[in-house]
Amino acid sequence: MLDGIIGKSLQGASLSPEEIAYLFGVPLFSAESSKILAASRQKSEAASDGLAEVHAQVGLNIAPCPKNCAFCAFAEKNKVFATASQLSAEEAVAAAQRFEQDGANAVYVMATADYPFAKYLEMSREIRSSLKAETVLVANVGDFNDRQAQLLKDVGYSGIYHAVRLGEGCVTSLPVEQRLRTMKIAREVGLTVGTCVEPVGPEHGVEELVEKTLITREAFPCFSGAARRIPIPGTELAPHGKVSEARMAHILAVVRLAVGSATPGNCTHEPNVIGAAAGANLLWAESGSNPRDTAEKTQEKRGMTVQDCIKVFHEAEWQVLQGPSRLFPR
Ligand code: SF4
Repeated sequence: MLDGIIGKSLQGASLSPEEIAYLFGVPLFSAESSKILAASRQKSEAASDGLAEVHAQVGLNIAPCPKNCAFCAFAEKNKVFATASQLSAEEAVAAAQRFEQDGANAVYVMATADYPFAKYLEMSREIRSSLKAETVLVANVGDFNDRQAQLLKDVGYSGIYHAVRLGEGCVTSLPVEQRLRTMKIAREVGLTVGTCVEPVGPEHGVEELVEKTLITREAFPCFSGAARRIPIPGTELAPHGKVSEARMAHILAVVRLAVGSATPGNCTHEPNVIGAAAGANLLWAESGSNPRDTAEKTQEKRGMTVQDCIKVFHEAEWQVLQGPSRLFPR
């Protein structure tokens, strides 16, 4: 049965929910699991011409966020950050330029869900005008409407990162339908969507992994993938702990096989060698604020540099694309 499912995926056919569930249920470190990892790597290399990418995110602000996603350091109820702070335009521009100089294939600009949209556009204009014309810019913001989507496009974004997160609507106050609508609106104005099965915790079963994998497939993204939850100490989800990198490698490999060949990217976060070896061809560097970090400047704690990510890819025997992202057409 396993060989049949893998063969079907590599030939470009769509896997059924039952087939995806079967792959998720294969025991780690079994001969069958090794086949899944190898097939994922093969499919990732074929989909991206053997070239991995490093994207880099600038987090604009820290604020106690009323949306209260239980896994996020910014959630008001998690009480990690009592006061709001934000980068100045000069600081944001400097961080973005640094990433560009370091060779990031795309630069993301992230803000919390209640960061004023007009301010986000203003900062985006400053950043856009400070970067090379060919540098790909990606927005990572809360849900938006069709008018705002067009404004993001007009200011120079090539795409967005957006996801229906594990536990969406239960451990977050955001309805699944709203998250899906944002991705649909983005596509309609020509913004390319990148997404991911995240944040995966040890308590998530096969059923929810399949459901969220199918959501990423149906978002027609330029990349999918899988990322684990980083426990924020003292919060309600922290007692669950975190999924091992070895298990995440299996999960991201199944996502790669479940998502069609027209999706060239397969990400994981945080960057690690076993995930890249198993078919993750997109990793992130980070600076500024970070929803997985308790430090205000993640580059001083959890955040990795572009060079760190390139090193991870080299350890996993990937070549890294030089120049603008091919995942997000500019
Ligand atoms: S994930 Fe986004 S919406 Fe949720 S609490 Fe954090 S900043 Fe707010």
